[in-house]
Amino acid sequence: MPGPARRAGVTPGADPLWPQASPGEHRRRVPTLGVTMQAPSVFAHAEQEGFEQVAFCHHAPSGLRAIVAVHSTALGPAVGGTRFLPYATEADALADVCRLARGMTYKHAVSGLDAGGGKAVIIGDPATTRSEALIRAYARFIDGLAGRYLTAEDVGTTQADMDLIRRETPYVTGVSESLGGSGDPSPATAWGVRCALDAVAERLWGTADLGGRHVVVSGVGKVGSALVDHLIEAGARVTIADVSPAAIAAVRVRHPDVTVVDPAEAHRTECDVFSPCALGGVLSGVTIPELHCAAVCGSANNQLTTSTDGQAIVDRGVLYAPDYVVNAGGVINIAEERHPSGAPYDRDRAHARVAGIADTLRTVLARADADGIPPGEAADRTAEDRLAAISAVARLRGSPRPSA
Ligand code: NAD
Repeated sequence: MPGPARRAGVTPGADPLWPQASPGEHRRRVPTLGVTMQAPSVFAHAEQEGFEQVAFCHHAPSGLRAIVAVHSTALGPAVGGTRFLPYATEADALADVCRLARGMTYKHAVSGLDAGGGKAVIIGDPATTRSEALIRAYARFIDGLAGRYLTAEDVGTTQADMDLIRRETPYVTGVSESLGGSGDPSPATAWGVRCALDAVAERLWGTADLGGRHVVVSGVGKVGSALVDHLIEAGARVTIADVSPAAIAAVRVRHPDVTVVDPAEAHRTECDVFSPCALGGVLSGVTIPELHCAAVCGSANNQLTTSTDGQAIVDRGVLYAPDYVVNAGGVINIAEERHPSGAPYDRDRAHARVAGIADTLRTVLARADADGIPPGEAADRTAEDRLAAISAVARLRGSPRPSA
């Protein structure tokens, strides 16, 4: 697999149809949202953007319409979740799956995992379209990819779906613990954010001690609420925000002393660390000038709105811990299901490995210093270097790897 292709003439963030910055996007682009895709342009984009395979899965009896994008298998089988959403157009679905698959390549690469980048989307409203037949038909398409792509849970799919997929194919991760899987990845993701904060604190204050530090957690769902538990245990002062009163209440039952702010005020709150753990796109030309924190470090995906926002945060004097480095706990946890020794999944071993996120972040921040670039770009370069280096190793012929 060649290293990521470079495309000349791309102005970062200039395309209003494709506003969100994601890994590597400052140099490479994906099919634009809202543009009707002609059949030949699908191939053109796949080639131009360096995708190995884009598979369209159609099964009329169950109503299945799905797309699987395999961006890269340079480091191992492509791993990424299945998103089940009622996309407005097929072009939107294609754009989303390609963007997300590329992001997985970068996340796995920077995290040192032997996994490539892939993603899948099922087009439809899961509330009305999901059926046993549809999920099992989808699983058979996954099986047909013969292990090139391993799926997992994502927005709109559930662990029950993964368990159902497991009945048709072994190429699924994150199944229930009773089936030998690693279960819900959120605790591992939260632990990864907590470990990333060690590296952030060391860099800013010369110690990993969070005692007395003020952290604002915006979004206290599965990841954010578990992060609050870790922060309280570490002696931090915590402020939370969420659009869901139930989510706030659930945290306050455990931690009555946490302060609550309106979600719209979260990023403006004066604090040591702002931790976005809700939606993407939280850092923009509007919100970055309003930040009153020393660092941003949270689990939300695609926190930067455009590819120029990374430099804007630097200019604001705020340390940005790149989202896909910080939130890799879930994929590191899932990778432990496929341990090279063949040993079964072990939560303690997985969480020990997740703790390595602190070292990954230290490496990325050091690279940002050395190259004089924003941390997000340093993460991209670190991932791209590993992809290129391991691709070169793969060209050395030998006996097949045990897991191949
Ligand atoms: P979740 O749905 O359990 O929690 C999200 C929370 O954010 C909810 O409580 C929701 O009410 C709240 N929220 C929604 N809009 C908000 C807003 N504008 N302001 C404040 N709060 C808002 O999701 P999660 O699994 O905890 O994931 C959180 C983020 O982390 C997402 O961006 C997700 O993509 C990312 N992430 C999660 C994992 C994982 O293992 N779950 C792994 C990697 C990345």
